[in-house]
Amino acid sequence: MTSYIFPPPAQTVVPVEGQEAVFPVRRILCVGRNYAAHRAEMGGDDREPPFFFSKPADAIRNQGENPAYPSVTGNLHHEIELVIALKSGGADIPVSEALGHILGYAVGVDLTRRDLQNAAKDKGHPWDSGKAFDGSAPISAIRPWSGAPPQGRIAISVNGQVKQASTIDNMIWNVAEVIAEASRLWTLSAGDLIYTGTPEGVGPLVRGDEVAGEIEGVGTLTFTVA
Ligand code: MN
Repeated sequence: MTSYIFPPPAQTVVPVEGQEAVFPVRRILCVGRNYAAHRAEMGGDDREPPFFFSKPADAIRNQGENPAYPSVTGNLHHEIELVIALKSGGADIPVSEALGHILGYAVGVDLTRRDLQNAAKDKGHPWDSGKAFDGSAPISAIRPWSGAPPQGRIAISVNGQVKQASTIDNMIWNVAEVIAEASRLWTLSAGDLIYTGTPEGVGPLVRGDEVAGEIEGVGTLTFTVA
């Protein structure tokens, strides 16, 4: 039996609706600029395809765990996103087989230090400080799902005021394409979460803001910025 020089870190988990067993998180991948109207508001070229970045697994904050306002930023932004939870994986997964790897979906928010992300973009630096900070990945419970992916409304409100509202079918890469594209770059596995990008209307959050996200058929996620 392996002995450790200190106890290994706790496994990050996400609850699964209707089940006592929880989902052990392996990796968190995120899609950038997967809605045309958000790509436009970020100044993106309309021929530029979506792309990936990642967050550490321990960035997860489950329902009931309020994320703290992060250090070193004056411009924290919300990005409401459909999250794919994988029950299996592989490399070079064809689009036609991608949906068979899905356990279910969750409502997620890709919290972003927009000032640090923009500074990194300007310098050609990595995005980690802007995207992959502690508590940057709030998520709802996973809703088990089979068959055609969600297509309906995705929205977020801050203090009761709707800030982002669109539909999942506006995604540039659909759910199956996201999995297929990711599996060309990484060998995917059970326990991987993929945040699939955000629609237009991203904006700032301050301490004390009450945030409520919803995706039709998938669920809701609420938190307060601590
Ligand atoms: Mn995002």
